[in-house]
Amino acid sequence: MKPSLARFFLIAFLAALTLIASAGLVLYRSTTDAQRHSRERAPDYAPQLLAGQIAEFTRQWIRATKAVAQAPLALRILKSTDAAERRELMATLASLQPDLGEIQLITGEQAKGQTLILSNLGAQQKHLIEISRAASDPASNLGAALRAETLSLTLSEPVRDTEGGIAGYVLVERNLAEVRTLFAATPLIDGYAELQQVNGVSDTLLKRGNEQLKFSGTSLAITLEATPWRLVMWRKPAATGLSADLRRSYLWVGGVLIVLLALCVWLAYRLGNRMLQDDLTVFTKLFSDVTHERLRKRYPIELRELQNGYQVMYQLAKMMVNKHQRVVNSAGIDHLSQVSNRRSFEAKQHEVFARVNEGWAHSLLILDIDDFKHVNDTFGHDAGDQLIVQFGKLLKDHLRSSDFVARLGGDEFCVIFPNTPLKKAEELAERLRANMPSRLELQPNVLHHLSWSGGLSEYSRQDQSENAALARADQALLDAKRAGRSRTEVKAA
Ligand code: GH3
Ligand code: MG
Repeated sequence: MKPSLARFFLIAFLAALTLIASAGLVLYRSTTDAQRHSRERAPDYAPQLLAGQIAEFTRQWIRATKAVAQAPLALRILKSTDAAERRELMATLASLQPDLGEIQLITGEQAKGQTLILSNLGAQQKHLIEISRAASDPASNLGAALRAETLSLTLSEPVRDTEGGIAGYVLVERNLAEVRTLFAATPLIDGYAELQQVNGVSDTLLKRGNEQLKFSGTSLAITLEATPWRLVMWRKPAATGLSADLRRSYLWVGGVLIVLLALCVWLAYRLGNRMLQDDLTVFTKLFSDVTHERLRKRYPIELRELQNGYQVMYQLAKMMVNKHQRVVNSAGIDHLSQVSNRRSFEAKQHEVFARVNEGWAHSLLILDIDDFKHVNDTFGHDAGDQLIVQFGKLLKDHLRSSDFVARLGGDEFCVIFPNTPLKKAEELAERLRANMPSRLELQPNVLHHLSWSGGLSEYSRQDQSENAALARADQALLDAKRAGRSRTEVKAA
């Protein structure tokens, strides 16, 4: 199977299609995974656990406060009138529940003017939550207040006398460091939690996590049993899976993408194909030019892939054309006289005649050796050849390098004087005649008296044919022969 551009583009298209399909699959899978995940998300027990622990703490403190209130010592202190004894008994009372907190006793009389806070939390809701702020650090001289929040709970319990009447109250100021620590240590992933006071207005006591979720998340509120508090947690909304509409639009986008991709590949294929064909045409032109021995300076190759090959071919073509040109040039030389031959003369004349309209004058001179036949007849054909050889050499030696010398045939030669008006050419022809030797040794001891006749004319822009000047020069040559030879006749246009 031969490789083809179409197959290459087909493979590229299939590869891109596979890529898009797998990307789509990954996207689809990830969204359905998110759906499944949100469905399967395990319930978070942390808030419940925290709520239970705080409630349990509170229950313990209430029990301890009750124990203090029910201790006979408490009634005794309230009944005692001796301050010193009371202080002593208070210390003993505090030692009953050393971990409870700061314990105070007030009489019923003392309590009357105050809102009493009873430990019967659930029923009376008379707990006091205080967020007292510690005084700013006195060691700091910066003036800025460095405050530490302290969270405390005041518990109260009536102290009853023997008749069951209320003799006074036990008040316990309990610092809630444990609650704070517990709250801070509760695992909270992607969530926000608040411990709120629900006595009338809700008041945030503690908070933790990303507060933004309060507006965007789903909330869970847990009332802490036996306390005036509520624990509220917000979590990130569960990722929702793709709606049917969205899935349909995904399919649409995918389909459109595939169609677009196919279109792009098809266009690229068409473009590539066209460029390839254009380049092949250029290569064909290059080969055609080589066969016609006329190479252009450059050929436009569009595809980069073909540039190197083109460079190599162009160099080869150049070599071939040059070589051919050399062969052609050598073919343009008359093998006997070694001046240009008739074909070269015609090419040169064509070129000169083409430039006749440019304003430059060009002249031509036909030379014919006088009585050549006689040489042939008398000394033989080889001597005649020798005369032709020597005459050709003499012409080349005595003319300017810009003058074009050719042998037209037999003993007839022709000189084209490019860019030379007739008058000047006449001078040159006469100088040539004067400078040519009068005797030539054709063979050992065979001397020949050289004589030639000439017909001179010029190329004219009025001439219909490029051979018109040659015909005039021929006519002039004939005139020279008729006039007795060994002379040059001129025939202007
Ligand atoms: P005229 O001066 O008037 O031109 O007379 P001519 O004797 O030179 O006569 P013509 O120019 O007509 O003679 C040309 C002769 O040259 C005829 C032919 O036999 C002879 N000839 C043609 N080609 C060659 C050649 O290559 N070598 C030799 N040796 N002779 C040739
Ligand atoms: Mg002759």
